[in-house]
Amino acid sequence: MSVIINGGGISGVILALMLSKFTLGKLRINIIERLPSSLFSSAYDTRYIALSRNSYCTLMSFGISSILSSCSVAIKEIEVSFDNRDVVLSASDYQMSALGYVIELHSVTSKIFNMLNKLTSVDFFCPAKLQQIIRNRFDCSVILHGGREISAQLLIAADGSYSVLGDLCGIEWEFFDYKQVAVIANIVTALPHEGRAFEIFTCYGSVALLPILNSQSAVIWCIPISYKEEVLNWSSSEFCQSLQKIVKWKLGAILDVDKRYCFSLFLRKSKSHISHRLALVGNAAQTLHPIAGQGFNLGFRDVLNISKIISNANVRSMDIGDYNILKLYEKSRQLDQGRVITMTHGLVCMFNGSCFPLIFSGNFVLSAMRHSKLLRDIFVRTVLSW
Ligand SMILES: Cc1cc2nc3c(=O)[nH]c(=O)nc-3n(C[C@H](O)[C@H](O)[C@H](O)COP(=O)(O)OP(=O)(O)OC[C@H]3O[C@@H](n4cnc5c(N)ncnc54)[C@H](O)[C@@H]3O)c2cc1C
Repeated sequence: MSVIINGGGISGVILALMLSKFTLGKLRINIIERLPSSLFSSAYDTRYIALSRNSYCTLMSFGISSILSSCSVAIKEIEVSFDNRDVVLSASDYQMSALGYVIELHSVTSKIFNMLNKLTSVDFFCPAKLQQIIRNRFDCSVILHGGREISAQLLIAADGSYSVLGDLCGIEWEFFDYKQVAVIANIVTALPHEGRAFEIFTCYGSVALLPILNSQSAVIWCIPISYKEEVLNWSSSEFCQSLQKIVKWKLGAILDVDKRYCFSLFLRKSKSHISHRLALVGNAAQTLHPIAGQGFNLGFRDVLNISKIISNANVRSMDIGDYNILKLYEKSRQLDQGRVITMTHGLVCMFNGSCFPLIFSGNFVLSAMRHSKLLRDIFVRTVLSW
């Protein structure tokens, strides 16, 4: 039995890692990645993402603890604020060492990629691109540009927001444009972060600060698209001064900022997770607004679920691309996907200046959380278990 994964980003490499562990190397895994491996980390932005405690601990159990611990920082405290109201959630209140972890996305991806490269059950086609897909009743194959053909029982699209494999197989997507962009950069602050993360909501969007190296934090600043040019044209000191007005002096003076990258923000959700001999995972299945840092946490659960389902089928010598097996995967993802998309989309709307009643409810929610330990506990448990 074999599988073809299109896309060697974080979802693709973690999927390959899990499949190879669950099947003890007995499933042939082919990964097609459009970028040359030498460009893997350098071709990208320097994005840091927050993983929930649950995602991080599950990943640690897949033999990559040394990779993760060398590229991650523990979040000990999260301060959520809006309009001068704030709530502080602390790991120590829950007798935990961390509420979540910040990882450097592309270093983790390229380190896992290098690790997989050494496994005999994994074949990389890189750089390579799909030209044609052939799906038969009992198997499927892809033809790469250049004419090489690879056959398998199942295709998995892990090729990101605008999945070419999904398109070629006729998948349809729902799309909502937030008319916002996320500007990301790393800042140096006068005070060390001490593991503190900040989520600051404003009427114009949100700012997240994630702890990275000592005295450095990763900024994810979501702004209306109409401000994009202005913000990107700011000098470093104009950027630091404007950010300082929003972040206030939580980390002392903002001393410096490195290169800035910009992402358009939208919700793109596939109408189905599966099709004949095809499954979608990660951003190929859904791309979210980064407001609550849930994008890869949700994609990770796609990867975990499909790898368990396929491995179970493989152990029983069943056809891993059988529609009934893929249906199990789709069924296992619907509730989780719906819940996270509703929460993320609701948060973006709640803190969007065009909707005053929701601003009122934003204030109300934060005040209520501040005064109720029960509400804080529910919030922390929900976020940690994701
Ligand atoms: C600003 C920002 C902040 C974020 N913060 C968080 C956070 O705090 N927590 C969180 O959980 N998530 C966060 N996310 C979301 C997270 O970054 C994504 O969910 C995750 O990176 C998606 O990974 P992926 O592998 O599914 O897709 P991608 O990263 O898009 O990878 C797709 C891969 O497929 C390859 N590919 C594409 N097309 C082809 C093709 N035709 N043929 C072959 N290969 C192809 C690409 O080269 C790439 O390697 C954030 C996102 C943004 C934009």
